Amino acid sequence: MADWEKLNPTARRYTLDRVGRTMCAEYGAGPVDLVDKKLPENLRGQYDSKTGQIEINEALLRHPDPRQALETYLHEFRHAVQDAEVTTYKGPQWRSVDAGRVHELSKPYESPPDGSETPAQAAAKYERYRAQFSELDPREFSREATDKILKMREEYLEFYRAMQTARSDGDRAVASRVAPSEYPGKG
Ligand SMILES: [Zn+2]
Repeated sequence: MADWEKLNPTARRYTLDRVGRTMCAEYGAGPVDLVDKKLPENLRGQYDSKTGQIEINEALLRHPDPRQALETYLHEFRHAVQDAEVTTYKGPQWRSVDAGRVHELSKPYESPPDGSETPAQAAAKYERYRAQFSELDPREFSREATDKILKMREEYLEFYRAMQTARSDGDRAVASRVAPSEYPGKG
């Protein structure tokens, strides 16, 4: 993640995949595959619950700023987590899952408008789509997780720069003290 600007789109996809794999264990999801795809301009990504695959709009991987790609990836990743929660709840490990979340996630899914509606219908449909828990939850999750990862990235870059310009062991010791301990996109 740290050297995102210098990576080509394929390497950026690997980077996101690595972030996801780190998080899979933590959130009990996965494995989640990530593919880049030519998607319509207004579609940043999507998650296919049948295949467990996340598709990301390849345009986002060409962008030098990682924020949109990361946030999109984490949004779709959260859908994979939701899937795992609903599945787990049906099995013997059901107690490990938040029943309130599963209740919300089990409500009928409101799809976004598909272009067949009148403008007024489309607007209302889009509102319902945005307001449902299944979409609120990943939106909130991805925003928070993206901020957290990018903040750690900044700290890591700062540490890295400090180490490079350090002139003495004393300087390096000072720099190491601010080194972020956990950084999912490191390496
Ligand atoms: Zn979504």
